[in-house]
Amino acid sequence: MAAVTLTVWGSVPAAGFAVPPPNVSAAMRAADAYHDSGAYQKDFDAVIAQASQYLAQQAPKVSHPAIVLDVDETVLSNWPQIHANHYGDFDHGDCSRLPAGPCGEHAWVRLAQAPVFPATRQLIRQAEAEHVAVFLLTGRHERHRADVVRNLHQQGVTGWTAFYMRPDGEHRPAASFKPEVRARIEAQGYHILETIGDQPSDLSGGHAQRGFLLPNPFYSVE
Ligand SMILES: [Mg+2]
Repeated sequence: MAAVTLTVWGSVPAAGFAVPPPNVSAAMRAADAYHDSGAYQKDFDAVIAQASQYLAQQAPKVSHPAIVLDVDETVLSNWPQIHANHYGDFDHGDCSRLPAGPCGEHAWVRLAQAPVFPATRQLIRQAEAEHVAVFLLTGRHERHRADVVRNLHQQGVTGWTAFYMRPDGEHRPAASFKPEVRARIEAQGYHILETIGDQPSDLSGGHAQRGFLLPNPFYSVE
């Protein structure tokens, strides 16, 4: 039998792409494996361990030391929602079928059932013990404050000095909004030792001595 002559996508000149885009299903399987194997947790904890060590080293050297923490995928994990939605990002869906989706953003925040990352909770407790002020800084809007605070309290996260949220109606990228807040914290006399988050926009823009970027292959925000 004669071999079939194949023309394979990717072997002919692509229309405007140097390489074909990644296959989305394969990317989802890889992200599932990264999470379910425990590698995500190990990588996450390794970054927090470095942040903890740096905090212990640097706090005694400055007056009014502080740290700034993002919330989602930094203090609280949205994995139950992310997994239920197969990495989809949408507002609606009542979350009544968890662990199956759909579980939209509004209902998920109202549920206040995001689990804590124990390593980050421990870092916050370390900061308190070493008299380092803790500032939370999230891109979530003010209208969600009560639900997010309830979620944090239920997960044993307390003791922060201030919790900055995005004003309702404000839609600037985090890379613009977050450094401004850190500048306001500095203007109150604090020395920000470190800013910790899962998105590059949690670290960019200065106003912190050092940044720690946590793993997050599951989504990105500006
Ligand atoms: Mg985050």
